[in-house]
This record gives sequence, structure tokens and C-alpha cells, in this order.
Amino acid sequence: MHSESVENGLVRVPGLVDYHTHILRDALGGRPRFMYGDIGDFHREVKARNQTPMDYPPEPIRTKEIGRRIFRSLMQAREAGLTEVWEAGLDQLECLYELLSIREYDLLPLRVRILIASGLAERTMPSVTGDLGVEIAGVKFYVDGWLGYRTCAVSRPFLNSNETGILFMDAETLAKRAGPFADRGFAIATHAIGDRAIEVTLDAYEMIYGGDCRSAQPRIEHGMVLRRDLIARIADLGVKVCVQPSFRGSDEHHIRSSLGNRWPYAYDWATASSCGVGLLSGSDSPLEQLNGVASLYILARQLGSIGMSGSLAAGADVTTGTTLLSGPLALNEEEPRVVSTYPVM
Ligand SMILES: [Zn+2]
Repeated sequence: MHSESVENGLVRVPGLVDYHTHILRDALGGRPRFMYGDIGDFHREVKARNQTPMDYPPEPIRTKEIGRRIFRSLMQAREAGLTEVWEAGLDQLECLYELLSIREYDLLPLRVRILIASGLAERTMPSVTGDLGVEIAGVKFYVDGWLGYRTCAVSRPFLNSNETGILFMDAETLAKRAGPFADRGFAIATHAIGDRAIEVTLDAYEMIYGGDCRSAQPRIEHGMVLRRDLIARIADLGVKVCVQPSFRGSDEHHIRSSLGNRWPYAYDWATASSCGVGLLSGSDSPLEQLNGVASLYILARQLGSIGMSGSLAAGADVTTGTTLLSGPLALNEEEPRVVSTYPVM
């Protein structure tokens, strides 16, 4: 990573990006509906309605301070050294309107890219803004549940169980729903955690993009329960995987109790990266801490081949699209395949 020393011991590096956050949804106040009960029950209820969590009716707004709360979170993100954040599945247009008015007053702390939740996108897809600060990047779909509740869709049963999780959509359905947005040039990102869900998502991307998959760079969100053959397919197609580096630690218990040794490549970003899979890094904030440098540090350690010396974020310089660090940030590999940074504007 190219870096440059500036005054007071600060170092300037390419701007860090958090590719998966829920900052805007969080600004609505309260917690998302699924957090109030058992998440597994929520997934089963959604499946019974033949929907996905991204099609579910939006949360009631619980605060009059949406704009103020968005602004505060974006300021924290900038202080954490981020120059750009992606919202992974916006289902309330009010957040977008508040964000645009922050932009209008020239107060936007950093760039925001928005993936619209599939349900909202199919009802009312907002048009692109053409604005460098706030842009509608694409649509987020959701094909399975979570590992912790054994609702992610897997190809063989979880440990000590005959269950294989929940698949919200098959490949044909995903292709039919996402295709029209892909045709309009929107990015497609799909939540897929279990290997069966990852496979379905890749099948759908092949149907949508054919040979143009690599240039369109559709995304898999999370993509944790990998298999060796899927790693090769992802690399071959040029699909990006947006990983949450801290999940391997926070999911350790679930990995042991639900996966055991049945999926030796689960969470194995090092093999994925060395086989040519392009990784994006996202925190899933507020589930995990919003901190680009910390995430990159954890991921670099997991990748093994990339060493990294400790360094703290000292903020972001949005006019140049760069991150300022207090202390050196050294990666000992010339061009790591980790895409945690964004080209300078
Ligand atoms: Zn998320």
C-alpha cells in the first residue's frame, strides 16, 4: 500500500472504505425488528411468507432526529479513518432524503454508497443522483439466514442435526429479480452465508451476467461457509466477496458447534485470497465496530501472507480521499488482493 508521510508523525494512505454498514437504518432509532425476538423464528416467519428479510415491511421510525443521527454516525466513521461507507440494504427512503439534505448543506462528512433493499427497490427504486458524495449504487438481495441460528443454507446437515438451514430464494428467482436492476447498471449484492446459498447466488450471477460477470463485479455479502470448489468458481467468475474480518472471532462458538470440521474452508479468507478471490472488507456496523484500520489489521493477520504493523486512524481527509494514520501502516506484500481502499478522487 502506497503511503506518504505528512507532518506531526502522520502517514497518509489511500482512503479506507467500509463496504457493509447499517448506519442509515440504525439512524431510524430502536433496533431492527428481527432483533426483538429469536432471529431463527424471524427467518422461518419470513420464509413462510415466501419473502426474504430484504422484502420485509420496513421498521416504524422511532425518532425525529434521523438527520442528526446519520450525521453523528458519519462523523464517527470519518474519525475512524473512513473515506467512504456503504449502506447494505436501505429500506426507508426517509434516510436517503435526510442524507441528501446533509449533502445539500455541504456538510457530508464522507462519501456514502447505498444498496437499496430488494423489496423497496421493486416498489420504488430511487434514481441515481450523479453525485460523488451520495450515490445509489445498487440493490441488496438476501438468499439465506445466519450461521448462529443455523438458518444459513448449507449443502449437508449441521453438526448433530439433520437440518440444512433456510434458502429464501432459488437461483432462477434471484436471477429474475436481480436481472432487471443489473441491466440498468446497478450493482447487485446478495447476502449468502451457507455454501448452498453461495452456490445458488453464483448460479444466478451466471444467468444474469453470462461472460460479463467479471466486469460487473457483483458481490456476495459475508460468504463465510466456503467450499474449495466454490472458491475456485468465485475467483473464476470475478465475483467479489464482502467479508467481515471480526466475524471469525465472534462466530468461533458457532463454527465449532454447528460446522465442526465439515467445511474446512469456512472463513478461510487466506485460501480464497490466494486463489484469486477479490475480497472487500465491511464491518456490519452497528453489529460490529466501525473501524477500517482495525478491520484491515484483523484481515491482514487472517490472510497470513500479509504482515501489518499496528497503526491508529487519525481521521480521513475527504478532499483528497485519503486516510490519515498515526504511525506507519506497512503491508509486506506489494499488491494485496484485499480491496479495503478506494481510488483517490
Ligand atoms: Zn449486514
